[in-house]
Amino acid sequence: MSYAQAVQEAVTALRTIRSRWAELLLAIEEPPADHWPPRQLAHTMREGDDELLVEDRAPLVLREHPAPLNLGALDAGRGVERLVFDLADTLAAAVQRTEQGDPRAWLCADPSAPDSRRATGSRAHGLHWACVWIEGRVQDEDTAPERELDGAVSAPPFEVLPLHLLHEARRTARIAEARVLRALGLDQRETLLPEPCPWCDGELILHSAPDGPPTVACTGGRTCSAPVPLDRTERARVWEWDDLPELIAALGVDIAAAA
Ligand SMILES: [Zn+2]
Repeated sequence: MSYAQAVQEAVTALRTIRSRWAELLLAIEEPPADHWPPRQLAHTMREGDDELLVEDRAPLVLREHPAPLNLGALDAGRGVERLVFDLADTLAAAVQRTEQGDPRAWLCADPSAPDSRRATGSRAHGLHWACVWIEGRVQDEDTAPERELDGAVSAPPFEVLPLHLLHEARRTARIAEARVLRALGLDQRETLLPEPCPWCDGELILHSAPDGPPTVACTGGRTCSAPVPLDRTERARVWEWDDLPELIAALGVDIAAAA
């Protein structure tokens, strides 16, 4: 794998983790759901929740979870935090040259510190910030000498990431990403829906994949009269993301209750 490709894969994984994190936090507070109807669809219909959570960046490790409804999601979330925070610790130990007062600095947790701020270090800013910080290291940001206001040149706050740590960052980010997607039911999978097609009684299959919204296919194909196009093989009718509300309505599924 080329250097550029490793950077690209690490960055993509880190951004997926960030973009899905609010969803995972919501999932913790809800009973584990089947993957049908798709969780994202329910959330689209409850706009506002995600923004609220993005504001609340406290890491799971510092939060109270008196009665988490989805222990699997909580477990996944804590595991992902551990992976990402530990990775930031490792990278900081290797390439961080800046001082504690620099807002760009990653502060490792110090459990023996007298105050909780130092005990938690940069973990207190939450997973989002940790992912952004790691992305900066993976992209070798702030590795050029800096000119101060008085004209003096100071050493860069970070060194260029050594190749073996770039690969470590890529590997860890992809493991964490897979864990987030699996917990949300967004990994690549096919699930037979409990109800048959309302138009032809054929089997309905939910396709989910990490890189796009889920779709549903009816195996009735041409014999199915559902008002959606056939797929390329012409063996199945397919409800794309925008068509799913119509299918859900036809099936009589209560999406609000399912969410
Ligand atoms: Zn059908």
